[in-house]
Amino acid sequence: MLGLMQDRPLLISTVIEHAAKFHPAAEIVSRTAEGPIHRCTYADIHRRSKQLANALTKLGVQPGERVASLAWNGYRHMEMYFGVSGTGAVLHTINPRLFPEQIEYIANHAEDQFLFFDLTFLPIVEKLAAAMTSVKGFVLMTDRTHLPAITRVPNLICYEDLIGDQSSDYDWPQFDENTASSLCYTSGTTGNPKGVLYSHRSSLLHSMMASAVDGLGLGANETALLIVPMFHVNAWGMPYAGALCGAKLVMPGPAMDGKSVYELMRDEKVTLALGVPTVWLMLFQHVDANKLKPKSELALKRVVIGGSSAPRAMSERFEIDFGAFVIHAWGMTEMSPLGTVCNLLPKHRDYDLQQRLDIQAKQGRGIYGVELRITDDEGNALPHDGKAFGHLMVRGPWIVSSYYRGEGGKILDADGYFDTGDVATIDADGYMQITDRSKDVIKSGGEWISSIDLENAAMGHPAVAEAAVIGAAHSKWQERPLLIIVKKPGQELTREGMLQYLDGKIVKWWTPDDVVFVAELPHTATGKLQKMKLREQFKTYRLPTDV
Ligand code: ADP
Repeated sequence: MLGLMQDRPLLISTVIEHAAKFHPAAEIVSRTAEGPIHRCTYADIHRRSKQLANALTKLGVQPGERVASLAWNGYRHMEMYFGVSGTGAVLHTINPRLFPEQIEYIANHAEDQFLFFDLTFLPIVEKLAAAMTSVKGFVLMTDRTHLPAITRVPNLICYEDLIGDQSSDYDWPQFDENTASSLCYTSGTTGNPKGVLYSHRSSLLHSMMASAVDGLGLGANETALLIVPMFHVNAWGMPYAGALCGAKLVMPGPAMDGKSVYELMRDEKVTLALGVPTVWLMLFQHVDANKLKPKSELALKRVVIGGSSAPRAMSERFEIDFGAFVIHAWGMTEMSPLGTVCNLLPKHRDYDLQQRLDIQAKQGRGIYGVELRITDDEGNALPHDGKAFGHLMVRGPWIVSSYYRGEGGKILDADGYFDTGDVATIDADGYMQITDRSKDVIKSGGEWISSIDLENAAMGHPAVAEAAVIGAAHSKWQERPLLIIVKKPGQELTREGMLQYLDGKIVKWWTPDDVVFVAELPHTATGKLQKMKLREQFKTYRLPTDV
């Protein structure tokens, strides 16, 4: 027997309609690519996204066609989130940090019809325009006064001219909630990037859980700073989630340096900030260099850290110097991205800070909608005892079922689980902890050593700015850990000093066989350590223990 409730489709347009009705004056504050800070409201975004929808219709964009963006976090990009998807077209957010050849590849693979881009990216668009064969027009996301006098970009359209004389009357079309809404390519650390095609339904279900109190806890009383880019996994769904609950959103534009981020936090009274660890390291450096007092100057209450592991020392610093609680979260492009969130349980109330930080170092518990399991190499489920570690598998309504245009073939197992490529433990309370990427785990004499655990331990040393651990070849053990460190400016640290520091903090046999110091570590387009490059760099490295 079917239920007798209304079957209203979960469409992205309903979210901005809601925001315009119930939170019309809540602000969207953006640092623009042109420079100045821009302020507008959900009512403005609503009106202008409808103008954009009318403009796209006039340009002949059909439902299902891809419209691409190459843009920072900002209000015009947000208008595209609603204006493009709301018409039934697909917003393809392109990551500008990809290599130019990759950008060309994905624009052609997606058969983008129009490309909207920020001023910053004019040089790259000039270079690639001719090779983007499906693109009929290039829209510069600026006003007339900032248009370049001369450009090699063909069919250049000015965003403000495009939408300026359009009506703000537009009836959002109603369609199946499973219709595609946006497209994001994975960074492609191996092989070509692959497209993940989100739907209206998956995006909305994800946003509802993301804003829930035991998700990331967004609400009308929060001011959220989105350092996580809108060009990568829809800024963790925050533009939709923000509109859903009327949160004030603060967008950093191109300025992610410590000074700019700190000033935005201070001036906009940010209560919740979201970003990857590298951004917070830059913020800390700025605070240190200028002897700032974040706890008394900022209104920051919570920081969501994901994308890579949030080092314990980082959570501790936010807690002590900023008075802010770190919410560690884990996910991936293929998961929209949220999978687990590290919130505390009633039993943790009496924990002291150090005990609490032990919990916060974990990536957290599966949020409703995400089923998690860990398996061995044969696919057998492993116990949730916090010790056994295996392949982390996920299933749920905002998790990929296959890549765009079938790239990579069948990607789910017989039970419909997707292999995340991460290796993890899950404890009896359901807290998941990533121990490694399956390809980064160090295989020492048949046993596995977690490179991430070692990195986190090393990061606790006050002289360490960044640490990476890779498996270096060893004739007896096959692989042994090599610790690679970037020191903080002006700090002294020796190999012996580091090993002494680690003593007692890690299992004895995990102790790195050597410690080397480098000026910087290679990162991917999304700020992750590029272990593949490091392994390449240290391919012929001879460990002192290998005699
Ligand atoms: P990319 O496509 O650039 O790899 P994703 O955002 O999809 O970017 O990366 C997902 C991967 O990032 C995860 O599979 C995991 O390895 C890593 N990751 C994400 N969040 C965390 C976290 N909190 N701790 C450790 N690793 C994380």
